[in-house]
Amino acid sequence: MKIEKVETELYHVPLAKPVVDAIHGVQREFSLIVVKITTDDGATGMGYTYSVGKVGGTSIATLVKDNLVPLLIGEDPRRIEQLWNKMWWALHYVGRSGIAVFALSAVDTALWDLKARMANEPMWRFLGGHDNKAEAYGGGIDFDMTIPQLLDQTQGFLDAGIRAIKIKIGRESIAQECERIAAIREFIGPDKKLMVDVNMKWSVEQALRAVRAFEKYDLYWIEEPTIPDDIEGHRRIETEGPIPVATGENLHSIYEFKEMISRGGVSFPDADISNLGGITALMKVAHIAEAYNRNLTTHGIQEMHVSCLAAIPNASLLEIHAFRLDDFLVHQLEIRDGYAYASDRPGHGVEIDWEKIAAHRVAFSEECVMAPTY
Ligand SMILES: [Mg+2]
Repeated sequence: MKIEKVETELYHVPLAKPVVDAIHGVQREFSLIVVKITTDDGATGMGYTYSVGKVGGTSIATLVKDNLVPLLIGEDPRRIEQLWNKMWWALHYVGRSGIAVFALSAVDTALWDLKARMANEPMWRFLGGHDNKAEAYGGGIDFDMTIPQLLDQTQGFLDAGIRAIKIKIGRESIAQECERIAAIREFIGPDKKLMVDVNMKWSVEQALRAVRAFEKYDLYWIEEPTIPDDIEGHRRIETEGPIPVATGENLHSIYEFKEMISRGGVSFPDADISNLGGITALMKVAHIAEAYNRNLTTHGIQEMHVSCLAAIPNASLLEIHAFRLDDFLVHQLEIRDGYAYASDRPGHGVEIDWEKIAAHRVAFSEECVMAPTY
């Protein structure tokens, strides 16, 4: 069995409504980079990664097409570790994280999809098969919402069968954040999980002042309280404050996760197959976390991550993110009574409606061709 064809596609996908957080400002769309692999005997696999707005999408797609596809053609797609290392080292000098690992992530996910489909197994069972579901939480990207709008959003999550809620924070005024958190805690009652997400906005001192003020609201975690590079700062927020820390959507390798976890900077490692090195890397982070008695949560692309969390014994919450492909998915993620259910279709089971999304396709390769100067 050999890889015969690898297709790379770029889409600029509009969000149903603009979203806002403390760092990235207003976001109206995201870039989706899709990789489709076909073997000489007709087996197929599909993976994707995404980036905020239009930033990086063209570069990621070009990196896949120009630098990874030539490494894959003619290779056995079942040897994922061998291919992953080949790609990692090909990109290493310009990579180790960032755009390079986004490109690798999309390919890796397509390889796992292909392999699971060949085995006729759903991804959650192929990867480990612990359970077929994961507890879901609503991750609002709601920094600019008024309190009534936050409560409306919360009601929407509850109506959708979601029982845990997260809101964006990160203002200078801790009193103002307390007012927003208090309103939601009162609205959902004492028993439901409530989290906050700073998107790296605060210093360690600001974060420590804030978590002490937030203690009375019984928060399940505070996410990305400060920059991901400050591991000692995370350790201080974890150990000196009363609220556990979640972080990881800006950690882009198993080594970065190992440092953050082993040095006591995080209670809830937050992994994302689209920016960490695909399913291969997420499963390794899950096992590192398990050895440190930590439960893994995931960031975004819930339709994919539900199968990863369902596979492992140390799963925490699945983020139901506002960057959604829902409008372009053939099968909607099933959520009921607080849990999201992994697909039982072979592979990850995520099918994109290619006809519907075609209007948002961008011809990236042409943009990269330099006109001859002679
Ligand atoms: Mg986050």
